Amino acid sequence: MIRLFLLLLSFFIASGLYANSEILKRAQKQVQSGSASEIFRAYNDYKSLYLHSVVEDDSELKAQCLDGIVKSGNKLHIDVTKYEAELKSLPKISYIQPEPKANKVTKRLEDIHVEVLAKLKSTSWRGETLLIEFDKSISSDQINYFTLHDSKKKKFRYVFDIKTSMLTSSQNINNNQIEKIKIAQFNPNTLRLVIENNSLIKVAYNVDNSTLEIALNDDGASRIVEKKREEKVTRSNKSKVVVIDPGHGGTDPGAIGHKGYREKIVVFNISKELENILKSRGHTVLMTRKDDTFVKLSRRTQFANDKKADIFVSIHANAVPAAKAGNVHGIECYFLSPSRSERAKRAAAQENSADMSDMNMYGKDSYLNLLNHHNILASNKLAIDLQRGMLGILNKKYSGIKDGGVREGPFWVLVGAQMPSVLVEVGFISHPKEAERLVNSDYVKMMARGLADGIERYFVNN
Ligand SMILES: [Zn+2]
Repeated sequence: MIRLFLLLLSFFIASGLYANSEILKRAQKQVQSGSASEIFRAYNDYKSLYLHSVVEDDSELKAQCLDGIVKSGNKLHIDVTKYEAELKSLPKISYIQPEPKANKVTKRLEDIHVEVLAKLKSTSWRGETLLIEFDKSISSDQINYFTLHDSKKKKFRYVFDIKTSMLTSSQNINNNQIEKIKIAQFNPNTLRLVIENNSLIKVAYNVDNSTLEIALNDDGASRIVEKKREEKVTRSNKSKVVVIDPGHGGTDPGAIGHKGYREKIVVFNISKELENILKSRGHTVLMTRKDDTFVKLSRRTQFANDKKADIFVSIHANAVPAAKAGNVHGIECYFLSPSRSERAKRAAAQENSADMSDMNMYGKDSYLNLLNHHNILASNKLAIDLQRGMLGILNKKYSGIKDGGVREGPFWVLVGAQMPSVLVEVGFISHPKEAERLVNSDYVKMMARGLADGIERYFVNN
């Protein structure tokens, strides 16, 4: 089965427009660019070429690809240990291109960003309208606007994510009427503007060539709103359908951890928080279970397919036997692939064991037939965004958060999903410290916010 998969892939590559050397050259540039999406493209190119090298038995190409997979994978926090091990096992190689010198990298970085994206030039006020000016024209497609309401802290946040190039440092923009306005780099190609206030304000925006106009609280806002109504509505199609799948439930408690905490309860609470946040951002959110009931694994993806979901996110918590409980912790994201690494097999065996009857539906190995190359890549991307989202936010407040990486594995609950699908292991409930965090409501909220941010980032970039 794997052989067929490899042959298909190699055919796909051989019939492509680029010769191998061209792909390698391009991938090398992408890794140096520093942009996450470019590095990800390179990572996938290296992986495809690697499979090609295996089929063709081309050891030189294999070494170059393994080197590329390890370099790009490390930058993306993807688990590349098996590729690293294979690279080390190869005979001493001299044809791997040396690391470019530092000044060369800097130059490339500038070239790429200037070419592709607009840069922030200045910010100013025209009455109650905030003008964000860029060095070249931008389009409304580059802007993702959403609002957040924290009812406990009585905070209203109006957030603009703008696709632009790097800003060096964050800055505050002063206005007597509004509590706080801050602009900062959210990720390598997203600039985030947050308007925060303790009471509701009227916000409207408009893109005029190279300027983003944001009107706050005065007549300007209603004028812009009127203008927006006349334009074709482009925002509504940003609203997506997300299916959240809280693992286990009912008679299946999932893993039982420290102090008897149950996986089914922990993951349900996180799923509920995530549901609320995504709904507040205007997405349609559906849960595979609304309470503590048992749902068969195959029903879960079937539900997502029936609802024509854009993505499927299954939430789980991990556990190890008591003897190891104090040593093993960390957050991991899995996407479905034919990979049979020991670690993936172990994690999958645990999650799969809940409902063995479903396995017969697919046969022992035939589920590989259902895997769709495009879906694997998209799921891989989604997993990276989710992993980053969680780590990014949790690291700000908590110490010792462990990045378990993005991994691939044969998870039955993801089989048959017709959309990008990811299984999140939010942590080990067998680990005393991590378990206590997983039942702490502040930690749960932050974890959910991280997942929501990751989902948002995935939608913005794909
Ligand atoms: Zn589970």
